[in-house]
Amino acid sequence: MTLDAATLDARDPLAGHRDRFVGAESELVYLDGNSLGRPLRATAERIGAFVAEEWGGRLIRGWDEGWFDLPLTLGDRIGEVVLGAAPGQAAVGDSTTVLLYKLVRAAVAAQPGRDEIVVDRDNFPTDRYVVEGVAAECGLTVRWIETDPEGGVGADDLAAVLGPRTALVVLSHVAYRSGWLADVAELTRLAHDAGAWILLDLCHSAGVVPLELDSWGVDLAVGCSYKYLNGGPGAPAFGYVAARHLESGAFVQPIQGWMGAAEPFTMGPEYAPATGIRRLLSGTPPIVGMLGLADMVELIAEVGVPAVREKSVALTELAVALAERELPEVRIASPRDPDRRGGHVTLAHPRMRAVTAALWQRDVLPDFRQPDGLRIGLSPLSTSFTEVERGIAAIRAAL
Ligand SMILES: *Cc1c(COP(=O)(O)O)cnc(C)c1O
Repeated sequence: MTLDAATLDARDPLAGHRDRFVGAESELVYLDGNSLGRPLRATAERIGAFVAEEWGGRLIRGWDEGWFDLPLTLGDRIGEVVLGAAPGQAAVGDSTTVLLYKLVRAAVAAQPGRDEIVVDRDNFPTDRYVVEGVAAECGLTVRWIETDPEGGVGADDLAAVLGPRTALVVLSHVAYRSGWLADVAELTRLAHDAGAWILLDLCHSAGVVPLELDSWGVDLAVGCSYKYLNGGPGAPAFGYVAARHLESGAFVQPIQGWMGAAEPFTMGPEYAPATGIRRLLSGTPPIVGMLGLADMVELIAEVGVPAVREKSVALTELAVALAERELPEVRIASPRDPDRRGGHVTLAHPRMRAVTAALWQRDVLPDFRQPDGLRIGLSPLSTSFTEVERGIAAIRAAL
């Protein structure tokens, strides 16, 4: 592979899509699309039109004309385009954290004879905090996997902590720090062999790594929409519940609200959960926050996740190769094998906190993760190979 970024950009079949994002014309180098994706230009227009025409014009009628079902219709579309999920299993709603709570709480409630939750020590903080909170609330034990922060959870790590008491395994598909890409099919098989459910956090993989939730047999999943799905700051997350747990009635989440009830508008005296994935909802859904997400899902549908992944691998391969050549004092704290790596690369050095701050001053935007990692997040549809090259040159200069 050539390391010449201009050549790679010239050959890139997806290069033209970059102009569809706000700010693409500027000199700024954006290497944090894994934390907050750039907005699509279409979204800027869409939000204006929504306020003027749908909200402003249709007013309360908007609920009957689509908003009421949007959490489920958009969930189905995300399922089809991004998750590898048949309709009726995904819904858009709360923050990732709140959905995690609902899913974890529902999973342990569904398996009353089991009293352990497995999670890894380097999982994203909110995942660990939610698991610890539910364990305290329900009198359960947390079984920790000690993870290599520059790698991630493998089959042996998981097998060592599973047992007849395991109710649920909570793992990230792509580790937020190292970029480790878990082998979900294998980990799911192990969890199921032990009789446990598995909950996958897709925040760092949805929209950039191919997903096959149905065929992997995953029980539950959650993911945010403001990273590789470009929904905007605080855009709502999506949750996935496998059809078998909805059909059996085993899945019942703890925040009983009218929007997840069987008949919201009878305003009845008692809560009865809706059938199907609607039972994941609680309150009035955040419609405005779904607009940017819906636009990005359509762009991904147009391009296809396999093509997005192909460019993602090429971008991270370039970042690793340039870092090896230009930054000999830096440790690559991410898997070298592209098959085990998601869409970002972490470069470690004791001065990376100061380096990140210096780069931000110069309109080069990676991010910093404790203790010494500079993270380069490469959102394939909005990032050029030239940006990677300029980013590595800027790190070299700052170091
Ligand atoms: C970004 C991220 C979150 C964020 O949770 P919010 O509730 O949306 O703030 C959770 N888990 C992982 C793995 C993440 O990368």
